[in-house]
Amino acid sequence: MRVVYSPAHLAHDTVTETVMGAVIPANEVPERAERIRSTLEADGGFAFGVPTEHGTKPILAIHDAGLLRFLEEAWPAARAQSIDRPNLIADTYPTFRMFEGMSPEFLASRPETSFAAGRAGWWGLDTANPLLAGTYAAARAAVDVALTTADLVLGGEGAAYGLCRPPGHHAARSMAGGYCFLNNAAIAAEAIVRATGERVAILDVDYHHGNGTQQIFWRRGDVLYVSLHADPERQYPFFLGRADETGEGEGSGANLNIPLPAGTGDVAYLEALDRGLAAIAETPGDVIVVSLGFDTYGHDPIGDFALTTPVYHECGRRTAALGRRLVILQEGGYHRPSLGANARAWLRGSEGRPYEPLPAGGFGELGSDR
Ligand SMILES: [Zn+2]
Repeated sequence: MRVVYSPAHLAHDTVTETVMGAVIPANEVPERAERIRSTLEADGGFAFGVPTEHGTKPILAIHDAGLLRFLEEAWPAARAQSIDRPNLIADTYPTFRMFEGMSPEFLASRPETSFAAGRAGWWGLDTANPLLAGTYAAARAAVDVALTTADLVLGGEGAAYGLCRPPGHHAARSMAGGYCFLNNAAIAAEAIVRATGERVAILDVDYHHGNGTQQIFWRRGDVLYVSLHADPERQYPFFLGRADETGEGEGSGANLNIPLPAGTGDVAYLEALDRGLAAIAETPGDVIVVSLGFDTYGHDPIGDFALTTPVYHECGRRTAALGRRLVILQEGGYHRPSLGANARAWLRGSEGRPYEPLPAGGFGELGSDR
């Protein structure tokens, strides 16, 4: 399988994030992608390539130009305004309740503040989104990784994998959040729709609901969004991801959320996956964009599912069994020792190669990774 990777992600070298007011070491760190890269390289069955520059046009087909401008300017602006922190994290966000009773026209007329921390809130969702010197370049490179992966598939590959970092599925049209700055999967899906004129399905198997992807395609009938995730009743992003969110307008029925309980294990997860795949099978189209996350793993530090490494192989196999071409893009997954084994298992499953667990010490099976 062809793999697209860029070392530009290394510059998005996050240090801390805040969770319920506490400053903690960052979860979304460069080591994540490097673990996956080294394991896939050692496997020998993956051919690595670099992304090609696609410019801003495909990004602006999905995102507000103001968000892109903010991401580009944020770090130098913060430094120029003497904000001296290891990374820029907002603490004030314009929740919709702040504007209750005010007209959409008035709202649209509100200016983006000029202060960097205020702008980070204006364009942000939450405090889990540290922004630093290398963030913009890394986020742009992750988009190029996704678009190059889509190019490979449109060029005839049955499946290709983009090792995107930072991830993307929490980023909405005009909002960054949840470790995400630009929505790699949404940008790739839009590029495929425009190139082929056909419908595209997005299968999001990250542990978290992809609120950004849902928002972007909410009123679109040409992009089916299917997500398996932790019930927002107990888990981020809390305010979207419920089963009754099915799309509106032309997008009515083109959004399928499958929220799952804490402790979801291999068997229950595969049943949910089959539900999602059945919905995709009923929709015309030849390409699936997979938002692939491994925070569903049993030892993930921020998830509460109980998946094991072998089930990722089966998930990849079942997804590929639909017979559609796969643009597979990396999203989350924070148990670093297992990331390589889990990615390898999923990708091998998707191309019909046997599971073949890594040797002891290779960090794969649940329980062997301490
Ligand atoms: Zn996640």
